[in-house]
Amino acid sequence: MDIEKVKSKVIALSNIIIENEEYLTDLDRAIGDGDHGFNMAKGFNKVKDAMNDDYKDLKTLFNKIAMTLISNVGGASGPLYGTFFMKFAQVFDGDIELDKNSFSKAFSDGVDGVIMRGKAQVGDKTMVDVLYPVAEALKNDSSFDEILKIAQEKMEKTKEIKARKGRAAYLGDRSIGHIDPGAYSSYLCIKSIVGDLN
Ligand code: ADP
Ligand code: MG
Ligand code: MG
Repeated sequence: MDIEKVKSKVIALSNIIIENEEYLTDLDRAIGDGDHGFNMAKGFNKVKDAMNDDYKDLKTLFNKIAMTLISNVGGASGPLYGTFFMKFAQVFDGDIELDKNSFSKAFSDGVDGVIMRGKAQVGDKTMVDVLYPVAEALKNDSSFDEILKIAQEKMEKTKEIKARKGRAAYLGDRSIGHIDPGAYSSYLCIKSIVGDLN
């Protein structure tokens, strides 16, 4: 996949987040402070704008996404998604092509970055609950249908468990019964990018 195709995927990803602003807000209103939709839509509107610029390689492009998210998405999720793209970018030093192998490596490094920064583990009811199993599935060369299924199942599973990280953790047992907003936004991102990577 070349830079132009990557840009069109990033625009598609941004659009799916922007279209779901209200639902992400509803989810965060239930177990957080109700700003996840606004935070994410604001950040991804800027990311979308940044796709009008030219980039010499994929590292520069993904670093631009990282910086845009860090400086425009408030709350916990901004620095976490920013870290994801910063680590993701490193893999593409000088590269102008993305394939399934480099994507898998970059995704896994991105998730490691999120875990390092946020200290959440799988089962804490955060975006990590979706991102980590997807990274594992990519490493195992799972089909995109399987990856999408995993992302959806893990996102839905966050409804049944108690939050141990982030704002929702203050609610304790009362966080049970609600999907985690960050897990849902991660699921949306995966849903928009799975498909033909070549
Ligand atoms: P805030 O909670 O600061 O208002 P957002 O509402 O934008 O930030 O994002 C909340 C989401 O961030 C949560 O639903 C969760 O998925 C994710 N999150 C919060 N803390 C962590 C953490 N330590 N590690 C991973 N993800 C986290
Ligand atoms: Mg919030
Ligand atoms: Mg907030």
